[in-house]
Amino acid sequence: MTTEELFREDATLEACEATVLALDEQGLVLDRTVFYPLGGGQAGDSGTFITAGGATLVIADTRKHQGLPGAITHVPAVGADTAAFTPGTRVTARIDGTKRRAHMRFHTATHLLCALVPHPVDGCSITAGYARLDFHMNEPLDKDTLSAGIARLVAEAHAVSHRWISEAELDANPGLVRSMSVQPPRGLGRVRVLEIEGVDLQPCGGTHVANTAEVGDVVVTKIEKKSAMTRRVVLGFAGGVA
Ligand SMILES: [Zn+2]
Repeated sequence: MTTEELFREDATLEACEATVLALDEQGLVLDRTVFYPLGGGQAGDSGTFITAGGATLVIADTRKHQGLPGAITHVPAVGADTAAFTPGTRVTARIDGTKRRAHMRFHTATHLLCALVPHPVDGCSITAGYARLDFHMNEPLDKDTLSAGIARLVAEAHAVSHRWISEAELDANPGLVRSMSVQPPRGLGRVRVLEIEGVDLQPCGGTHVANTAEVGDVVVTKIEKKSAMTRRVVLGFAGGVA
C-alpha cells in the first residue's frame, strides 16, 4: 500500500480527488495526496477531507506511515469523527494553502541561506511561522548581512526547479549533499535534486516556490550560538506575517 506523492511534482496543487485506502490509529492513508508529510525539516500539512455527501474531516497533521513503507497518513484533529471515511470512500483532499505557501517560501529561503553560508547544515526546521537552520561552524554570522543577501537573491528572481538523478550520479558528486543530518533517502534508485539556478543545488524532497522572487520579505530574525560548533539562523517574515 503506497501513496502517490502529487506534491513532489507540483507543489502548487492544493487539492486532489483520492480514495481512502486505510484508516487506523495513525490516521487515514489515501491512494494519492497533495499533503506533504513531516520530513526533511519541513512540517506536515493540515487541511480537510470532504466526501461527495458533504461529510468533512479536519486533518491536523501529515506523517509518513510507520509500518507501511511508501504510505502517507493524514492525522485527524483530536476528537474528529472518522465514521464517514472508511476504506473505499472517495474524498476531496484539500490542504491549508496559506500554511503551505509559508512553508514553501521559508523552505526556499533556507536554500538561499545555504548558498550564503558555505558550511554544512546539521539541523533544520521549517514551520508556517519561522524557519531555522543550524550550521556546523564557529565563525560569527551577521544578521543584517545575511538578510541583505537573501533580499538580493530574492530581487534577482532566480528560477527554482527540481529533477531526479540516479544514485550513481549523486555518489559521483558528494559535494551535492550539504546536510549532515538529513541525508537523501537511498535505495529508490533515484534522488530528487532541487536547483536554484546559479545559486544552490542539493538533494531535497520538500516543497518550494518556483522562483526566488516568490520568497518575498523573509529576513533573519535571530542568530544564536547553540554550541561551540553550531550557529543557528532563524528566519521570519518581515513584520512577522506571511
Ligand atoms: Zn528544499
